[in-house]
Amino acid sequence: MRDTFYEAGWLAEIGSTCAPPIRWHRRPRRWVNEIRRRGASGGVSRRASLFSYACNRCRLCCYGKGIRVNPYEVLRLARRRGISTTEFLKHYTGNGGIELARTADEACVFLGPEACTVHPDRPLVCRLYPLGRRVSQDDEVFFELTPHPETKGVYGKGATVQDFLEAQGAEPFIDAARRYAELRQRLAATLPAAFAAAPELEAEARATAESYQDGGDPGVPELLDIDAMVRQHCLRHKVKMPRDVKRLMGFHIMAVEEFVESLSEKGRGA
Ligand code: SF4
Repeated sequence: MRDTFYEAGWLAEIGSTCAPPIRWHRRPRRWVNEIRRRGASGGVSRRASLFSYACNRCRLCCYGKGIRVNPYEVLRLARRRGISTTEFLKHYTGNGGIELARTADEACVFLGPEACTVHPDRPLVCRLYPLGRRVSQDDEVFFELTPHPETKGVYGKGATVQDFLEAQGAEPFIDAARRYAELRQRLAATLPAAFAAAPELEAEARATAESYQDGGDPGVPELLDIDAMVRQHCLRHKVKMPRDVKRLMGFHIMAVEEFVESLSEKGRGA
């Protein structure tokens, strides 16, 4: 396993408590102008705020964006495709395994002629759309993202944000985002000590982080790969590998923490 952490985007964002954002990617100029003309997205909402949205399957929101995924979302999508997370990360993600791949015309790799082809297991950002979500230690807010100028989606006030979240099946994904954000924070507390004791590891991590920030392809780190990490963890501990996605996520978090601890020990012994 490579001794790097910052190569993984969700780890590079240590300290961030936001749900994985949708990142616009190479927007057509007319969208950029339209978005500038319309200005920023709508106001801040809470779960009890009035909000409704009817998708009319125009599919426009599935173009030109970097759809961020965390390891749980990769696992859900991999199982939908009937493959391992290792294969999924290799074939269906980009940017170091943290975004869904896009086709030559900038469509999400899972966009079909009619609609999303992985709809039951689509990531959180797709479930929340057209809302964004931002969380801090004791607060959670939602905000309307600027829509595609030609969207056929219909906005309303006939229900609440909470109703919308329930209809989208967002809660297991929000829970996974919270657990990985907490993991990031625990790693953030552990890594400085390990790096202080083992400066060569920090130099390696920084070089990889710079490659990531410069738009280079740092490759998919094994740390993000639930099947690979959990398999090794189960072999080490002589336990049966779980099949259930929630248990697999729990084992993955344990495996990452164990790896970080081993790195710290290595650093302390250096
Ligand atoms: S996963 Fe589905 S909903 Fe999300 S961007 Fe891709 S095609 Fe669209």
